[in-house]
Amino acid sequence: MDMIILKLGGSVITDKSKECFFKKKVVDNLSKEIKRANKEIILIHGAGSFGHIQAEKFKLNKGYVNKNQLHGFSVTQERVQRLNTLVLKSLQDNGIPAVSISPHSVLKLDNHKLADINYKIFEEYLENHFTPVTFGDVVLDKKLRFSICSGDLLSIALTKHFKPKRVIYVIDVDGLYTSNPKINKNAKLIESSTIEQLENFTTSLDSHADVTGGMGGKLDAVKTITKLGINTILVNGNKPDRLYNVLVEENARSTIIYGGRNEKN
Ligand code: ADP
Repeated sequence: MDMIILKLGGSVITDKSKECFFKKKVVDNLSKEIKRANKEIILIHGAGSFGHIQAEKFKLNKGYVNKNQLHGFSVTQERVQRLNTLVLKSLQDNGIPAVSISPHSVLKLDNHKLADINYKIFEEYLENHFTPVTFGDVVLDKKLRFSICSGDLLSIALTKHFKPKRVIYVIDVDGLYTSNPKINKNAKLIESSTIEQLENFTTSLDSHADVTGGMGGKLDAVKTITKLGINTILVNGNKPDRLYNVLVEENARSTIIYGGRNEKN
């Protein structure tokens, strides 16, 4: 499909250290760049500080442990929905016909893995030229009663189903580095990689345990996507024009991981 799956990271659209802090300016800039690029897109956004803080406090990803969690689940659902409304409004204000698809009402997990998802609703909105927007959410889980459905998990499921042309992750650093650039000043940006290089690289990262930080789950997603023969790009959402350039396939500082054996798109 000549479509792009675009994920805006929670660390870009919110300040992860401040509860429910929405980065309006950053999101408005990204909305403008998305509009300017004029591509068919399914958009996913992370929950950032609208989700993680409560989710951790109530241990929502463990599934049902005690009934106090019901309150935490409800609060988290309201907050991520609030964040989703803020993102939708920014997209709308910039001329994008964005519509919300809430994971909690269209999918179910089973022990953290996807059990059911209503792809049809994404399809029908796309056919009608809307831009579907979904997000990291708290959802029902067959085994655990409830758990968390991350934006990265959504990106894998939607990519497997829709086989988009490219998958783009907007993050708060320039791309994938040889180690966490926020900790290691000597970290080097990896501008491009094949699946083989990525696998060797992650094996070396795994031996340093927590070095990957937030990148761990994303790399698993990238590996799955790469194996489908689809190119994945990681790009910094805080730097003007980078997302636009990546969307229109112009040069931009970023990381591209080439899908399958397909070396250059
Ligand atoms: P988001 O929530 O925005 O999707 P995360 O915060 O989960 O993204 O992941 C991005 C973060 O991962 C970066 O801010 C960076 O500090 C961290 N990170 C850890 N290891 C690496 C690495 N090797 N290359 C790039 N970023 C890394």
